[in-house]
Amino acid sequence: MPALVTTPEEIERLLRAGHSDLAVHRATGAARSTVARHRKRLGLPGYRMNADSPSCRHGHPFPENRAFQANGWMYCLGCSRERSRRAPGYRAVEPDEMAIERAVAGDPPERLTPRERAAAVRKLSERGLSAEEIAEHVRCSPRNVYYLRSTFRRAA
Ligand SMILES: [Zn+2]
Repeated sequence: MPALVTTPEEIERLLRAGHSDLAVHRATGAARSTVARHRKRLGLPGYRMNADSPSCRHGHPFPENRAFQANGWMYCLGCSRERSRRAPGYRAVEPDEMAIERAVAGDPPERLTPRERAAAVRKLSERGLSAEEIAEHVRCSPRNVYYLRSTFRRAA
């Protein structure tokens, strides 16, 4: 790694721009304790957010955007929404028509994507099969078929 030239001014500029200690450390190569010392000197608040913060560190207001994972960790709903929208190169997998046809014929491949399964269930229910019959064709549980049917009704 090439030696990084770090000036206190550069660290100050990055801290004032709202970067975390870790981000400044990575960008400048300065030790995290050094970065923390500069933050303290500048009187800038720490990077952490908690339930009492008025917003997340990216500015999404709390409590509208405050959410909790099942394990109790808090996260920002606004941030996670943006992340999922902006995820680079994200593309839903195109359903494989062959796999759907096989599932409809009662010989599904090892793995069906949720979309493929839904498409197969839709085709079979249009033919008037019962949920149990469809479940056997597609190799999923009847409950899954009931659920998927209810989503079709909602979409229609
Ligand atoms: Zn946020």
